[in-house]
Amino acid sequence: MENPYLAHRKESKENPYTGKSYTENYFKILEKREQLPVFQYKKDLLEALRNNQVTLLVGETGSGKTTQVPQFFVEELKPHLKNKMIVCTQPRRVAAMSVAKRVAEEMDVEFGREVGYTIRFDDFTTNNKTFLKYSTDGMLLREAMFDPLLTKYSCIILDETHERTCATDILMGLIKEIIPRRPDLRVLVMSATLDTERFLKYFEGSPLIKVPGRTFPVEILYSEKPELDYVDAAIRTVLQIHMKEDPGDILLFLTGEEEIEDVCRKLSFRGNEMVDYPILKPIPLYSSLPPNEQQRIFCDPPKPREPGKPPGRKVIVSTNIAETSLTIDGIVYVIDPGFCKQKIYNPRNRVESLQVTPISQASAEQRAGRAGRTRPGKCYRLYTKESYDTHLTKQTPPEMLRTNLTTVVLQLYRIGVANICKFHFMEPPAPETMMRALEILNYMGALDDEGDLTELGKMMSDFPVDPQLAKVLISSSKYKCVSQMLSIVSMLSIQNPFLRPADKKKEADRARQAFADVCGDHFLLLNVYDTYVKNQFDAKRWCRENFLNPRAMASAVRIREQLEKIMKRFKFEISELSPLQKEFQNNIQKSLISGFFMQVACTNKSTGKYEIIKENEKVDLHLSTCLQSKPTWVVFNEYIQTTTASIRTVTEISNYKWLLEIAPAYYDLDTLPAGAARDYFIKEKYENKPKAKKQKRHK
Ligand code: ADP
Ligand code: MG
Repeated sequence: MENPYLAHRKESKENPYTGKSYTENYFKILEKREQLPVFQYKKDLLEALRNNQVTLLVGETGSGKTTQVPQFFVEELKPHLKNKMIVCTQPRRVAAMSVAKRVAEEMDVEFGREVGYTIRFDDFTTNNKTFLKYSTDGMLLREAMFDPLLTKYSCIILDETHERTCATDILMGLIKEIIPRRPDLRVLVMSATLDTERFLKYFEGSPLIKVPGRTFPVEILYSEKPELDYVDAAIRTVLQIHMKEDPGDILLFLTGEEEIEDVCRKLSFRGNEMVDYPILKPIPLYSSLPPNEQQRIFCDPPKPREPGKPPGRKVIVSTNIAETSLTIDGIVYVIDPGFCKQKIYNPRNRVESLQVTPISQASAEQRAGRAGRTRPGKCYRLYTKESYDTHLTKQTPPEMLRTNLTTVVLQLYRIGVANICKFHFMEPPAPETMMRALEILNYMGALDDEGDLTELGKMMSDFPVDPQLAKVLISSSKYKCVSQMLSIVSMLSIQNPFLRPADKKKEADRARQAFADVCGDHFLLLNVYDTYVKNQFDAKRWCRENFLNPRAMASAVRIREQLEKIMKRFKFEISELSPLQKEFQNNIQKSLISGFFMQVACTNKSTGKYEIIKENEKVDLHLSTCLQSKPTWVVFNEYIQTTTASIRTVTEISNYKWLLEIAPAYYDLDTLPAGAARDYFIKEKYENKPKAKKQKRHK
């Protein structure tokens, strides 16, 4: 029997959201959509929605959860007629943008009007028009700060909850608090491979709908011995598949943009040499890629070299995005080197860094599954079976357990969660991490000694940047350099704008050095920004000549505008120091210290090495720094741990007494552990104290 839920839209020729006739494209896509497994569950889903406030949905990646289910709910709840919205959260920006675009096309409406997306610094929706919005989880959490009951929404869909990002975990906790106070609200918790037991227990009494995927068997092939270099091994495997295996696209998982671009270049080069084989077309996919370039993953494979010959082969070289967030059809071969980039936080030294880490067994299964979507596939694991069994953890630990919670705790305070320690986390963070966050917020002046949110803390939470950066902006007003700090903070909020193509590294480094400043890298960023703005009329050419990423620079300008708006809302004057004024260098340094006083290093006199204050951890300046000399004291933006530890984006602190002035609580001698910094301060104390006493006596 034909499913009545499938039929009804075919009869109507008019799009209820635009009043226009449906285009041909609409019906073409509709046919494909109706094949998706989730369509068979439309009736069950809508019934669950009617009878429950919270419903859980588990379905294989590619079954149509993200693109279809929100549309079902739009039909049912008709938010457009009720002045409400439906929001669907995504942990990844790329997914939010890409899926919103796809769904607008499927619904035959204008992208950015009826259907749009919101990600940090980028709101692609229309007021009073958008009724279906894809949003990053972080942005919805931010909305909750201003509207704790999320009253705009009649339905909230939390997608990719298995990813267990910090923001999604907190949203789940918040939603549990909101539900009794919003009986009209409907919530759907969606996920690929869910830790079903845990979720059912957390959302007690909620129905679970399981959509079985249409998957084909995937043969798993392990490396016989450990690979010395997984990138080399990956390239080798791609070429072997291309030469020996039947037609079918390849999906290769790597860890980040640079690695991916590099491998794509190498594959292109090798592919071009293999004239006796079909065309090999590498396509990169990572989150900072512009949306139109992301869409390339959905294009058809290359045509045969000659009619009658086999078709070419796509090789999608992707980060974890392709693991669950975006479904790419036609993948038959998956290459899994077993690594991904993960945020790791060490609460002891308060340092957070992105590190290449082994994936979990659950991730490995999910990656392999990408190969069996359209026909039986193969997954090449570039590690041994033994390694899989003994070295990979079962599940990736949730972000909550491996991240700096400062931002999150500040947000929870702002939302008004009364007792954070009693907040119903799915898995509560380690007490040490929680205590650290509270302590840091107290040092920053965001929480007072009673643990209450201060006016400063409230203001800080309004900025869509980390508390440190917010603090820097707010204090720049005192130091009369708001304009400069806005530019620097914007530059710190974009992806790395400096391009360094493999064959032009020297030229690129020279171009960067042209912006150098004696004070250091934050000043260099300011120079880059200012010069970019002066050359904006010819931005593309200028960026090319200076090895800068034009997209990143353009987004710095957009971000700056938004931050400036917030500063103005708080009635801060957009003050500006002239580089000729003697306060220029000092005041910018002081502003930086006001937010980053916990990210300061000084040289140990006996070893000559930098040590991070308090932990005395030894670090080097990152190779990219423009500092020619080694100032005794520096403030830094980022800690990077590879084979050695280094600090990136570093600026001199001309006078270390500023630390005592600006962050007296943190640099209190009574609590400052032994180390290079303490030695300086003690010396300071002994050299100055007697003098001060003497002076007194003279008076
Ligand atoms: P799920 O969320 O269950 O993983 P999705 O709803 O994301 O599944 O995807 C369902 C189907 O829609 C997939 O087969 C995918 O290939 C297709 N699809 C999604 N986005 C696009 C796009 N931009 N272009 C073409 N097909 C797409
Ligand atoms: Mg999805």
